[in-house]
Amino acid sequence: MDHESRTDHESRMNWDDRVTVWDDRLTPAERAALAPGRPEALDRSPDVLIVGGGVVGLAIAIACRRAGLGRVTVVERAPRLAYGASGANGGAIAPDMHLLTDSPEFVAFGRSSRELYRRWDAEWDGALGLWPTRWLNIFPPGAAPHVSRQAPGAAITAAAAFTELDPSAVRELEPDVRVPDGGTALLVDGQLGVNPQRLSAALASRAGQVITGVRVLGVAADGSVDTSDGRFTPGAVVFATGLVPRPWADGVRQRWAKGHMASVAPGPWRLGSVLAGPVGGGTPLADGSVVCGGTFDEDTTTEVRPELSDGLAADLVRVLPAAAGARVSHRWCCLRPWIEGRQPVIDRLPGLDNGWFAGGHFTTGVMMAAATGAAVADWIGGSAVPAGIETFTLPVG
Ligand SMILES: Cc1cc2nc3c(=O)[nH]c(=O)nc-3n(C[C@H](O)[C@H](O)[C@H](O)COP(=O)(O)OP(=O)(O)OC[C@H]3O[C@@H](n4cnc5c(N)ncnc54)[C@H](O)[C@@H]3O)c2cc1C
Repeated sequence: MDHESRTDHESRMNWDDRVTVWDDRLTPAERAALAPGRPEALDRSPDVLIVGGGVVGLAIAIACRRAGLGRVTVVERAPRLAYGASGANGGAIAPDMHLLTDSPEFVAFGRSSRELYRRWDAEWDGALGLWPTRWLNIFPPGAAPHVSRQAPGAAITAAAAFTELDPSAVRELEPDVRVPDGGTALLVDGQLGVNPQRLSAALASRAGQVITGVRVLGVAADGSVDTSDGRFTPGAVVFATGLVPRPWADGVRQRWAKGHMASVAPGPWRLGSVLAGPVGGGTPLADGSVVCGGTFDEDTTTEVRPELSDGLAADLVRVLPAAAGARVSHRWCCLRPWIEGRQPVIDRLPGLDNGWFAGGHFTTGVMMAAATGAAVADWIGGSAVPAGIETFTLPVG
């Protein structure tokens, strides 16, 4: 059931040592929400049991509760929620960016997720802490895509509401940003950013019974679930474990894809856009810090290689020269769940009447979590595959 390499890493990881730029920015209440521990009385027969307290599991819990599916319990093996990539990623909710790279279903799903986040944040008085972002994609000569995956044949600007900017237009918008000679830029507004730990804390505090430090060991054919803290007999069980657990993992091509991040301390520049593209980039935070990343690394350890984070900061200087010599305040890494096909997988678990899996969100688990939650809740509450996720099927081993 477990992915041993990941388990080994986690037993060596210490939350207090894993300092991301996001950890520093939490309130005591948010920290407490991320570490609920084990409640005295466990609900052993919830209507929905969710395995995995990453952003995807937490969003599923929210959606199930909102759909009126009854009592919900989340079980996380680590001492904290959002312990893996869910608490350490870039915090981008930027579905329109995927017009450049991904399928129509993928983009539509990402856009519906963004809408759900907006709705939840408004209902919860801004508890998610979303902020609006615009993305400036900077391309060296010849590198800019000119057709959209959404509407091949249509120019990218027309098809996708990107605005093409030449270097002088970029200078007007972002005086400190440099476009390589002969290069160009694409601008898209209306995206979101979030502190991923704040997001998970806000979800967790509304997710029903949330338990940390309890590991799911296996699930029997009758749908009962064995854990390190005894047996649960849920109505439905949803694995939100990043990768597909055993025995369903047999034959599925999947792995953790490590990425480094870096945060650059505030400096003497003005930056109002997220900078992206093959040259380098970063996300500006309100205090002037810039978050850069991530890399795609070969190894799957959780060891930080400082030179990889520093490389991201160096790439930022290529598009934001004023960041030369700026201090790198945080260096960290985390692991993306990758399942061949690069889409999220949202599907029933074969052989179980009451089992689902939702994972493989790779580079976009934060962006996709809300829509994933809604789809899983719909499916549990109804009987048919919800619209829009027909292609997100579990690969057959
Ligand atoms: C460098 C980097 C930058 C990124 N930037 C972005 C970004 O800007 N925007 C975006 O949308 N996405 C981003 N991502 C991707 C995003 O972080 C992931 O897709 C997302 O966190 C996956 O969430 P998850 O809940 O599926 O998995 P995880 O966060 O891995 O959570 C799964 C949880 O399940 C628990 N678990 C596993 N097995 C068991 C068990 N047997 N019993 C109990 N608990 C169990 C694990 O301990 C873990 O906490 C980035 C990723 C990386 C690496």
